[in-house]
Amino acid sequence: MEHDFRHLIRDVADWPEPGIVFKDITPLLAHPKGLAWAVDRLYEPFVGKGIDLVAGIESRGFIFAVGVARALGAGFIPVRKPGKLPRATVRREYQLEYGSDAVEMHADAAREGQRVLVVDDVLATGGTMAATCELFAKTGADVAGAAVLVELGFLDGAGRVNVPLHSVVIY
Ligand code: AMP
Repeated sequence: MEHDFRHLIRDVADWPEPGIVFKDITPLLAHPKGLAWAVDRLYEPFVGKGIDLVAGIESRGFIFAVGVARALGAGFIPVRKPGKLPRATVRREYQLEYGSDAVEMHADAAREGQRVLVVDDVLATGGTMAATCELFAKTGADVAGAAVLVELGFLDGAGRVNVPLHSVVIY
């Protein structure tokens, strides 16, 4: 059986706030085979699915999205926190597991009919992913799927994501 690297995703209790168990992926990122395992498990279900663009959600989504885009022969789109992008943007507010925030991307980042895969490290309440998918709906692009390294299944975030969701590890 192929090696599994999920033990390199470390639980950090009460960070950044009491009651939150933070999934720290930095040991996995630092492990050469662990990093390759993560990127490979994220992109493989989308081979041959006609993905034109891979969107990464700031900031840990960026880490994986570029590798996934490269493997799929697709381009990369940064989905950013408010106020970071220099040209005209589209914006969506959302609730986090801790606090609230918004996501933005360039209004012309994806054209109508292009097939987009959205990538992030962790799906918690699903608010960030759902908001990002809604951003693409505004541009007319087709969100073909969402891929996350970790899904916190007990938070039922998958129920808020209305595109095919691929989760490498579910807790
Ligand atoms: P949510 O919108 O609740 O699904 O939160 C997802 C976003 O918040 C992702 O971009 C994650 O990086 C981050 N996040 C939320 N909860 C956690 C957690 N327990 N551990 C690590 N990252 C988290």
